[in-house]
Amino acid sequence: MLTLQEQLEDAAALIQQAKRIVALTGAGISTESGIPDFRSPGSIWQQQPPVSYQDFIGKPAARQQYWQSRHRLSAQVAAARPNAAHLALAGLEQRQVLLGVITQNFDGLHQDAGHPPEHVIELHGTSRFAACTLCGKRSSMAELQERINAGEVDPRCPVCGGFLKSATILFGQRVPEAELARARTLVNQCDLLLVVGSSLKVVPAATLPHLALKRNVPLLIVNLQPTPLDDYADVVIHEKAGLVLPPLVTMIH
Ligand code: NAD
Repeated sequence: MLTLQEQLEDAAALIQQAKRIVALTGAGISTESGIPDFRSPGSIWQQQPPVSYQDFIGKPAARQQYWQSRHRLSAQVAAARPNAAHLALAGLEQRQVLLGVITQNFDGLHQDAGHPPEHVIELHGTSRFAACTLCGKRSSMAELQERINAGEVDPRCPVCGGFLKSATILFGQRVPEAELARARTLVNQCDLLLVVGSSLKVVPAATLPHLALKRNVPLLIVNLQPTPLDDYADVVIHEKAGLVLPPLVTMIH
C-alpha cells in the first residue's frame, strides 16, 4: 500500500509528462466549497430520490418537490466560491498544459476559478440560468428564484407558457449532443485524463474515460470513494481533491 506522498509523486510524474491534460470533474470537486454531492453517504438523494424530467413535465407535485429541494441547493451554490482544487486546475491552465475542463457540475465554479468559459464544457448544464422546458429560452435564475421565494408555485415561461426550471439536466433528460460531441473531441485530444470528484457512475460522463483508455492515454483519478475505473487508472488517490491537487501543481516544474 503506497503512502499519500508516494501516490502524489506518481501522480506528479504523470502530470509532468503531459502537455494536453483534460480534466473531468464531478460534484466531489465542489463539496469543499460547501455544495454537497448527491451520492455520498448521508446526502440528499439518500433522503429523497431526485425528480425525473418525465415527472417534472407530467406531475405538478413533482415540480413542487423540485422547487422545494432546489431551495437549499441554490443558496449553497450562490454562496460557494472556488476551492483549492478548482484553483489548482486553473493553475494547470495558466501553465498551458490543460486543454479544458469537462464538468458534470452546474455550479459555475470552474469559470470563477479563472478558466475561460469556452474551455469549460458543462455536460449537465448550469444553475446560473433558468430555461423553459418547451421553447428553450434562457432567463435569469436569480429572478426566477425570487418569484419562487415570493410564493409562486408553478412558474411558467412568459413567452410560450412552458414550465420553467434551472438550465440543468434532470434524470431522464438527454445531455445535449453538441456538448457531448465537444467533450468527446477534447478527450480524444488529451495525453492525460484527470478525473476529479466523480463517482464515474453517471452516464454519459462516465463513458468518456473509456475513449482515453482505448488510446492508451494515462488515467489519473482523485476521488474520495472507489470508482468502477480504479483498476484501469495509472494512479488512483482516494483523498479530498482540495488536499491532493494543490501539491500536485506545485510539484511540477
Ligand atoms: P458524482 O458522480 O459527481 O460523484 C461525486 C463523487 O465525489 C463521489 O464519488 C464522492 O466520493 C466524491 N467526493 C466527494 N467529496 C469529495 C472531495 N472533497 N474530493 C474528492 N472526491 C470527493 O455524482 P453525484 O454527487 O451523485 O451527483 C450527480 C450529479 O448531480 C452530478 O453529475 C452533477 O451533475 C449533479 N451535482 C452537481 C453539483 C454541483 O454542481 N456542485 C452538486 C451535486 C450534484
